Amino acid sequence: MRELDSEIARILFSEEVIQGRVRELGAQITRDYRGKSPLLVGILRGAAIFHADLTRHVDLRLKVDFISVSSYGAATKSSGQVRILKDLESSIEGADVILVEDIVDTGLTANYLLRNLAGRGPSSLKFCALLSKPSRREIEVTVDYLGFEIPDEFVVGYGLDYAQKFRNLPYIGVLKASGDGSGN
Ligand code: 5GP
Repeated sequence: MRELDSEIARILFSEEVIQGRVRELGAQITRDYRGKSPLLVGILRGAAIFHADLTRHVDLRLKVDFISVSSYGAATKSSGQVRILKDLESSIEGADVILVEDIVDTGLTANYLLRNLAGRGPSSLKFCALLSKPSRREIEVTVDYLGFEIPDEFVVGYGLDYAQKFRNLPYIGVLKASGDGSGN
């Protein structure tokens, strides 16, 4: 029994299931980018663990970078405006970029970032997300590499937090007293 297990109502994806799927996504990216050196851009902080595992299953001379964004407040939600808190370290002009996200909910964050990165002149731009809640979508987003679809429930673990907690769980689960999530 882990310290945080008692606060989890239900496990959606076990550590083994997640690792199996991440391995498959890595193999798919390896096949699709053969002969190239893609840049895997992780969105902090939620995607950090997924990004770290995914990169180790991609058998290519890849590069990594990270970007950090603020969650939109209620006022800015309709506009889909997301503020970049920490930008990429390098230019992505001419690069084969894969944006790596933990979860796509309304799609506003991914939509904003994909449009922003597309404007920087990458050679190609794809989107990889571990989880997607299609029933919550407010704006269409193409997920080129998707781990799992999930129902409209607030999930934690494997990088995903509730009030900065639960990120270190190796599995993904639903909280006992489900609340309004926070954090990126
Ligand atoms: P979107 O812009 O697609 O609505 O939201 C994406 C962000 O919302 C994710 O990066 C994540 O930070 C947060 N989010 C959405 N659903 C969940 C969830 O079920 N659990 C957690 N921990 N965060 C979520």
